[in-house]
Amino acid sequence: MSGTDEFSLIEIFAEHFRAPVADVWLGIGDDAAVTSLPSGRDLVTATDALIEGTHFLPETDPRSVGHRSLAINLSDIAAMGAEPHWATLSLSLPSGDRDWVTRFAAGFAALAKEFGVTLIGGDTVRGPLGASVTLLGSVPSGAAVTRSAAQSGDRLFVTGVPGHAGAGCRIRMGALSADDPDDYLACFEYPQPQVRLAVELRELVTAMIDVSDGVAPDLARLLAASSKGAVCVIPGLGRLEDDFGTDEAVSLFLSGGEDYELCLTVAPDNVEQVQSLAAAHRIPLHELGVVHDEAGISWSHDGVVLPTPAEAFSHFGAGDE
Ligand code: ADP
Ligand code: MG
Repeated sequence: MSGTDEFSLIEIFAEHFRAPVADVWLGIGDDAAVTSLPSGRDLVTATDALIEGTHFLPETDPRSVGHRSLAINLSDIAAMGAEPHWATLSLSLPSGDRDWVTRFAAGFAALAKEFGVTLIGGDTVRGPLGASVTLLGSVPSGAAVTRSAAQSGDRLFVTGVPGHAGAGCRIRMGALSADDPDDYLACFEYPQPQVRLAVELRELVTAMIDVSDGVAPDLARLLAASSKGAVCVIPGLGRLEDDFGTDEAVSLFLSGGEDYELCLTVAPDNVEQVQSLAAAHRIPLHELGVVHDEAGISWSHDGVVLPTPAEAFSHFGAGDE
């Protein structure tokens, strides 16, 4: 991208993040950013990209792309029990479309402000439309929550209502329809990562993972990393079942993807405290089952054990990243 073009596009982002921030010594504008982390904290880093055609449709509102490019990283940072601080953004644009960049930046900045994230730098290049965000956060030293420490006897929970975002995605693609699609579309296009709750859960959970591909594949990853298995029951699916029927609702819940909710394992003694924290944040928390030592997960719904591996419910194959 030519120098003037690039500079005026970078300015669109710089405008949103001009206010001084205590821990950012140098942000956008120099060769590199300089930030400071208080002693006694570990740095936690996540990177995820959104590419047109792979992660979003060509006609998608750029505000939603800006929001999601940060939300998917906030969700990863949340799953570590970390607080987010700073982001960098690599933007690849086929042309210097100011209007697209302005809308993208507005979506990105609105979510960044909600969670106290400062954009401290990035790169702007010509290429296929896409955005890659690196998000830096922190936890007290040694306190990061991993996927790999679930214990036998832990109880398993998922936040929010998995499946709604997957329904929104399929409605956008024309593969599903609903009489009142707005809530589903909002879940897909403007996911709200569980950052605040996750930080409060840090000391109370044994393991955590964010749900990006679907409850079934992501829970399978957590349990595999912990060398454990589980017996799980699909909770009541409410509106999903009314709108799309039982089979589709179960499929959306297990592997709709795009949820950016959290799957967590909790020692029995901490369950009550975890439930009351979720209630205080007004975040639904569904209990799924109990962790055990044997590998493998069985899922049942309405008392019937699902006959196929849960991954078989995926519309696209697990993990189309
Ligand atoms: P350099 O050639 O030194 O890498 P650039 O022209 O790429 O400089 O970037 C100039 C400044 O703008 C740097 O501080 C860089 O981090 C920042 N920057 C570039 N693109 C973006 C972007 N998309 N979002 C935020 N900051 C950006
Ligand atoms: Mg550069």
